[in-house]
Amino acid sequence: MSTRREFGARLIKAVAGYAIATGPLLRSLEAQTGLPIGDLRSSLGAGDGVILTPDDSKYTESYNLRTRLVPEVRVLCQSAKGVAATILWAKANKVSFSTRGAGHCYEDFSQNLKLVIDTRKLTASEWGSNGLLSVGSGTTLGSLYKLADARGRAFPGGSCPTVGVAGHCMGGGYGRLSRPLGLACDNVTSFEIVDARGKILTTSATQNSDLFWALRGSGGGSFGVVTKFTFQTHSIGKVSTYSASWTLGVSEAVKVFRAWQSWAPHAPNEITSTMTVSKGGAGKIRLHSSGQSTGSETKLRNEVTSWAKGAAVSTKTRTSMEAIDLFAGTGGWVLNPVYMKGRSDYVKKPMSEEGVAALMNEMLKLSVGAISAMCDAYGGKIAEPEADAMAFAHRDALYSIQYYSQWSTASQTSSKLAMSRAFYKALRPYVSGYAYVNYPDLELPDYARAYWGDNLPRLQQIKQKYDPDNLFRHKQSVPLPGASLSSSIRSIALPDLFAFD
Ligand SMILES: Cc1cc2nc3c(=O)[nH]c(=O)nc-3n(C[C@H](O)[C@H](O)[C@H](O)COP(=O)(O)OP(=O)(O)OC[C@H]3O[C@@H](n4cnc5c(N)ncnc54)[C@H](O)[C@@H]3O)c2cc1C
Repeated sequence: MSTRREFGARLIKAVAGYAIATGPLLRSLEAQTGLPIGDLRSSLGAGDGVILTPDDSKYTESYNLRTRLVPEVRVLCQSAKGVAATILWAKANKVSFSTRGAGHCYEDFSQNLKLVIDTRKLTASEWGSNGLLSVGSGTTLGSLYKLADARGRAFPGGSCPTVGVAGHCMGGGYGRLSRPLGLACDNVTSFEIVDARGKILTTSATQNSDLFWALRGSGGGSFGVVTKFTFQTHSIGKVSTYSASWTLGVSEAVKVFRAWQSWAPHAPNEITSTMTVSKGGAGKIRLHSSGQSTGSETKLRNEVTSWAKGAAVSTKTRTSMEAIDLFAGTGGWVLNPVYMKGRSDYVKKPMSEEGVAALMNEMLKLSVGAISAMCDAYGGKIAEPEADAMAFAHRDALYSIQYYSQWSTASQTSSKLAMSRAFYKALRPYVSGYAYVNYPDLELPDYARAYWGDNLPRLQQIKQKYDPDNLFRHKQSVPLPGASLSSSIRSIALPDLFAFD
């Protein structure tokens, strides 16, 4: 009798070139999973939908090792029709499923123990007029940047090239061009999506516009499987970049941070800036600020040196691809899975001196490298749309903070989570309580209000209209109207979400 791995190897051989697995192989797969996979195979078009099993390690890929789940069946769909057939099969057979773009979800929302509808093979692209670029939902940000660059154009997405356009653009999508060009979701002009009835819909400002509103900020996995995105790309020419670093005691570090906080959200729109706070050694805080401008290097230098006192500020003019490489960092073009936890806050009023000092003093209680607080300045074009223009609600944020930690073995997970929880808890009095849906956190109390604020009721109505049976769901998907929104963890006392507004 063959082992699971031998079986997997035979299956993979059978589907090489996307041939259909038939006969004994299919029956073995059915016996192994207890699912009528033959029916799924029949309903997929010839050459569509590569069905794999966990035996193929390549297809378990996801960024966060802490939350990785291995599904019984992974279907790599190659067309919207294939996605529709898989959704209808899952529905008919009551098989729970998740949808994967490029697998970077911080929690496990694109994973499932039963079925994953994997869109990574949906990578076709097509240029339209006026800089409109359509790409399949399996496209990564890096591939999108390369496609745009080949035509002398750019797209305002995040800094990690392996991240998928799918999850990223539906959650918002912040990057080094966000202040001049807006968030990624602000630059989507239409989605093609397969809904809960297996229907392929186009959503745009003029077609299914309520769903178009919802998909720009709800995060993925709540309304259907998106199969195609159409983006507005931009012609930006060369960019300039800067960086500045300090290692200081707390009182001096507080001053530098507050100077950044006063400048970055209000700087000229052409400049997007970030500030990272970490421990720099015993009693020392390390601050690192970097950013990019679509304006001149001279103007950027003048702007940064106006507040970045006591640091050697370096600036450089680059092509936009060189800047993408710079911010992607070494190895940024390859998926490097890690154990990690991220949590986020939005700062909507300048953080008080006491608050910034608390952030730094909490950092000093930990070992060097334990947690980084990564702050991304908002304002500029991000702040232009009204808060209810689309599902993304945090137009009034000054900046977001992400508390990021990563480690190397599973045995460290529980202590690292406890550390991250305590850190987050200590900052509660100084922040808004709102959070960024692209940095999901299963311990976030009242996640729906934290992610979507006042846009939640409208999102729930749209959910009711397009997915009344809650087929597309994960642990923090948009709830149906009337669903209980209680938090899963009550040990973190969150101040009244709206007390700081
Ligand atoms: C290393 C790293 C760097 C990052 N950098 C940034 C950054 O600079 N700026 C920023 O804003 N964010 C950043 N993020 C967060 C990132 O935007 C989110 O993790 C995003 O959701 C990832 O999208 P994905 O398609 O890769 O993830 P996936 O895990 O595949 O999907 C994420 C969510 O979207 C759903 N989904 C995926 N595909 C589809 C689809 N086709 N249709 C419907 N739903 C779908 C999934 O079910 C899941 O709920 C980063 C994350 C990582 C891990």
